[in-house]
Amino acid sequence: MIRRARDLETICGAGLCIGCGLCESVAGREAVEMRLVSPGFLRPRRKAPIPAGTMAKILETCPGVVIDGAATERTALEDPVFGPGVSVWRGRAADDEVQFRAAAGGALTALGMFLLDHGRVDFVLHVGAARDAPMQTEARLSFSAGEVLEGTASRYGPAAPLVDVTALLARGRRFAFIGKPCDVAALRNLARHDPRVDELVPYTLTISCAGVPRQQSSHEFLARHGLREDELETMRYRGHGWPGPTFARSRDGREAEESYLDMWFPYEQKWKTQFRCKICPDHTGELADITSVDDWPGGAPEGDEPVGRCLVVARTRAGDALFREALEAGYMIAEPAAEGMRGMHDTQGHQVRKKQGILARLVAMFLAGVPLPRYRRVRVLRAAATAHTMFHLRNLLGARRRLREGQHREEVPQ
Ligand SMILES: Cc1cc2nc3c(=O)[nH]c(=O)nc-3n(C[C@H](O)[C@H](O)[C@H](O)COP(=O)(O)OP(=O)(O)OC[C@H]3O[C@@H](n4cnc5c(N)ncnc54)[C@H](O)[C@@H]3O)c2cc1C
Ligand code: SF4
Ligand code: SF4
Repeated sequence: MIRRARDLETICGAGLCIGCGLCESVAGREAVEMRLVSPGFLRPRRKAPIPAGTMAKILETCPGVVIDGAATERTALEDPVFGPGVSVWRGRAADDEVQFRAAAGGALTALGMFLLDHGRVDFVLHVGAARDAPMQTEARLSFSAGEVLEGTASRYGPAAPLVDVTALLARGRRFAFIGKPCDVAALRNLARHDPRVDELVPYTLTISCAGVPRQQSSHEFLARHGLREDELETMRYRGHGWPGPTFARSRDGREAEESYLDMWFPYEQKWKTQFRCKICPDHTGELADITSVDDWPGGAPEGDEPVGRCLVVARTRAGDALFREALEAGYMIAEPAAEGMRGMHDTQGHQVRKKQGILARLVAMFLAGVPLPRYRRVRVLRAAATAHTMFHLRNLLGARRRLREGQHREEVPQ
């Protein structure tokens, strides 16, 4: 019999929480509050009893335990691994400063700026460095293009963009959302319970996501350079080159910098993501209107390049129209990608292998009696069918070992 999570404690305890913050918003901060737990992930802490109806809503909307793939009609460039695609583009933000400060080519930032400059939305909900603690990441509301630019580039640590989303919906104003694929999935889950999501959030934009690295990696970076978190004025993970260095500056002007490759490679040893990311069925944002990824041939940088580039997939007709309008208005410089979704297989090859391996990992979880998430319409079986038996066996045995060692188990916030 398949076990499912039954409350916040079993979601977190089984390693299924992603740290999106939606449950805090659904239950109210007086009942649930996100907090940072060792080794550096955000998790919900129950502060007061949660009524059964609210808990049921959390269990139906939490992206850690429910991922419902796109239910719309098939798109022209539908891909068995990467999902829907209406059009695929290669390019960068037209504004040099946007492109320079962004993670890759700055497509997400440029599109957010276009939406505000052209009055399509009243604000953009995204994340950025916390103003008083720049190693932490906080949810941000941007009402101007300049504010969107302040939140540009990757935050390689925990981020909970949805902590206030129900209060934001209550404002009755239109907004665009930029977040990770699972954050977008959380919003789509919420849309099934709250019609205001479809009314007020006309655009969702996302990244390709290999998983959230623990905050501990950032502390170790600072320690290597003799800095402490409480001294920081700036902490950034990408941008200022493509991909750009991890960079920190203290208030008294001391600086630390490591290249992306020094900081994060070899990826398997240094990235150290949370358990839930290892069984993520959607690393590339199938539920969003637009996905922007690094356009590195082969999927990894060879070093820093001065000018970043994105591969952008418009997943829906709304996303396609948005991209074309932003292009026309001069916010992007881009060409249709001649190879279509095959570009995703080249630049995101690591995501193909992850998706192929999920089935075996889920089987290992089932055999270990660990609560399983519910995945629908994300083609887990179809992706698995494209890999060899030995690949699945290796994944199954690896997952079984990790589960036996208890690597999935997490401290439940008290
Ligand atoms: C955890 C993580 C894993 C990644 N893994 C991959 C990968 O496997 N393959 C790949 O091609 N690229 C990966 N990236 C990089 C990301 O895909 C690029 O940022 C993307 O190409 C978008 O580039 P851009 O220049 O259009 O984005 P930008 O214009 O720089 O905009 C980035 C936007 O993402 C938002 N954002 C940044 N970090 C987070 C976060 N932690 N949570 C929620 N929102 C965030 C920012 O608020 C900003 O609005 C990863 C990024 C992150 C944060
Ligand atoms: S994944 Fe999001 S909604 Fe689910 S428990 Fe974690 S923070 Fe809450
Ligand atoms: S790998 Fe998947 S579950 Fe993990 S943070 Fe990225 S999108 Fe979310």
